[in-house]
Amino acid sequence: MARYTEASCRLCRREGEKLFLKGERCYTNKCAISRRAYAPGQHGQQRKKQSEYGLQLREKQKARRFYGILESQFRKYFEMATKRKGVTGENLLQILESRLDNVVYRLGLATSRPEARQLVRHGHFSVNGKKVNIPSYLLEPGDIVAVRDKFKDSQKLKDILDIAGGRTVPKWLEFDAENLVGKVVTLPAREDIDLPVSEHLIVELYSK
Ligand code: SF4
Repeated sequence: MARYTEASCRLCRREGEKLFLKGERCYTNKCAISRRAYAPGQHGQQRKKQSEYGLQLREKQKARRFYGILESQFRKYFEMATKRKGVTGENLLQILESRLDNVVYRLGLATSRPEARQLVRHGHFSVNGKKVNIPSYLLEPGDIVAVRDKFKDSQKLKDILDIAGGRTVPKWLEFDAENLVGKVVTLPAREDIDLPVSEHLIVELYSK
């Protein structure tokens, strides 16, 4: 399966934002954005005037990298968003948020989205009682996400919960911390999504 191979911190520096791709490190002063808040590469510290296209492109790349999605898949989500009722940009973010790997991360069952993706691939979660190992699986209101028995008692999960267990679960999700079970209550509204992106610029880019 195709995936990102570029160094995570480089992606954050390129976007000039924390994308939280490395778990615990992202919250410490070892974070590359705190230490070198300029784009990577030889010309990274030069100030450039962004064209309209450049701005749109950066917003799209930022959203894509935040969720760790390749271009072709991201474009498919956009097509899906245009077919839904409502505002296309918000629909797009709603689709991205409803991915299983993102929900696992939001529930505090992984320290980063890349880790959530790996844990899902390893078959550590079920949806409505059935094992699902597809990170891009789209959840719907009423779906129940649970940690599977084999993973429940693992040291790995204990370590994750030590780091991410205290994270605030967004209001569109419910989490039973004792049984390690989450529920999608509803799909998120725009104000429930803390993504620092102007989604209308992504819509403008793809609508050209
Ligand atoms: Fe991004 Fe985390 Fe690296 Fe900081 S530590 S630059 S937030 S991936």
